[in-house]
Amino acid sequence: MRVLFASSEVFPYSKSGGLADVAHSLPLELNKICEIINITPMYKFIDKDKFNIMPFGKKFILTFGDNFYEIELFRHTDKKIDTLFVYNDILCEVDTLYGYKNDSLRFGIFSYAISKVTELLKADIVHLNDWHTALAAFILKEKKSAVKSVFTIHNLAYQGVFEKDILSILEIPKKYFNQESFEFYGKVNLLKAGIAYSDRITTVSPTYAKEIQTKEYGCGLDGFLSKYKYKLEGILNGIDTEYFNPKNDKSIKENYDVKTLNKKEKNRNLFYENLSIKNSKRPLFIFIGRLVEQKGISLIIDLLKDISKMKLEFVILGEGEKKYEVNLMLLSKKYENIHFIKGYDEGMSHKMYASANFLVMPSLFEPCGLNQMIAARYGVISIVHGIGGLKDTVFQDERKCAMGIKFDKFQKDELLNAIKKALSIFENKKNYEKIVKFDMKCNFSFAKSAKKYIKLYKEVL
Ligand code: ADP
Repeated sequence: MRVLFASSEVFPYSKSGGLADVAHSLPLELNKICEIINITPMYKFIDKDKFNIMPFGKKFILTFGDNFYEIELFRHTDKKIDTLFVYNDILCEVDTLYGYKNDSLRFGIFSYAISKVTELLKADIVHLNDWHTALAAFILKEKKSAVKSVFTIHNLAYQGVFEKDILSILEIPKKYFNQESFEFYGKVNLLKAGIAYSDRITTVSPTYAKEIQTKEYGCGLDGFLSKYKYKLEGILNGIDTEYFNPKNDKSIKENYDVKTLNKKEKNRNLFYENLSIKNSKRPLFIFIGRLVEQKGISLIIDLLKDISKMKLEFVILGEGEKKYEVNLMLLSKKYENIHFIKGYDEGMSHKMYASANFLVMPSLFEPCGLNQMIAARYGVISIVHGIGGLKDTVFQDERKCAMGIKFDKFQKDELLNAIKKALSIFENKKNYEKIVKFDMKCNFSFAKSAKKYIKLYKEVL
């Protein structure tokens, strides 16, 4: 069984969030059971020399919408996984992954290229991820291709909605501009193509699979998804447990495991020193993530005054919407124990996981979330809003992986109480360490979920 795994971002080549991590770590596990080939754009900012990415020796021209687009393929093999890179100037000559006026055309080109590569490689299945690749499901069905498609929704909030004029640009026949296919409130919704035309749909946690069929979390597509629930399944994400391993993580000073927890404290002291936090023995609370409404950053900002009065250090790493960045900048200057590191910094995030005692993750909604699983691996107890994947991966009062603190309502006082609870847990060293050790032993690898994907692939063939 040969599977082409298509994603607009793949770690370590390109990454804006969890999708890149999953597009790296899931194929690693799948490849142990079947043949997986990754496919992703050859963005100009990917360092070909550093990764030793070579020409694949294949060029072809895509023609659609009265235009033609030249494609060149590149290739890199890492840990026995082949990644094919699709180069086209419109798709790839960019400084960041998304946010351009012609994103519909850019990822339309990518989707047409994916469909062409399924033929070239004689793939049995194409596994499409998010709206950037969703059109490929439609293209394959239109061509009456024998290739089956599995479509994974990583975040329903991003749907790829564009004006009607993209129909002709992407050569989508007008007869499909209706509510059963692409139409979404007078616009074109590319994610709908993935839902309607793929053979199976998955999303990244069982709870989120249920939530997206409700008005509250359905982002306008709850009815549409409910219609297709017979082919929809929630399969929990995992992490690359080799890469996220405090025992041999190269980004951290003191490597440690469950038996050498005292080294975690050394990491914390060093981290405090580097941030010029003087003589603090206080526990470290962290937030790492995109500064957008989804991640509950407004709830945190609203609480910073209260948090500043508590015996803890709070470090926030992230970038995103300007209003949040500005607010965090100002508040971190105002309060001594609140610290804001603006930016996206993989190494810094590892240092934070290696140093922290608690992770604060009060997401408004969360398809799966990876931070809480990474946190468990590094002995960081998670404080989460109990929704989506967070509900499936953080448990309290039970010996279930991972043990953490969960609050039910997305409200300030609920989060504040959860942080107070964390502090009281921290005061009881024996109990605190028991939870930390339990969490570090949790298995959040992709192995179990990879088996579920394989089962699903076999079912569609
Ligand atoms: P998302 O909704 O952003 O995809 P996930 O929890 O699924 O959220 O994945 C986020 C991933 O990105 C995790 O690996 C997290 O550690 C990482 N990450 C997010 N923001 C930053 C940042 N500013 N610096 C470093 N890593 C980050």
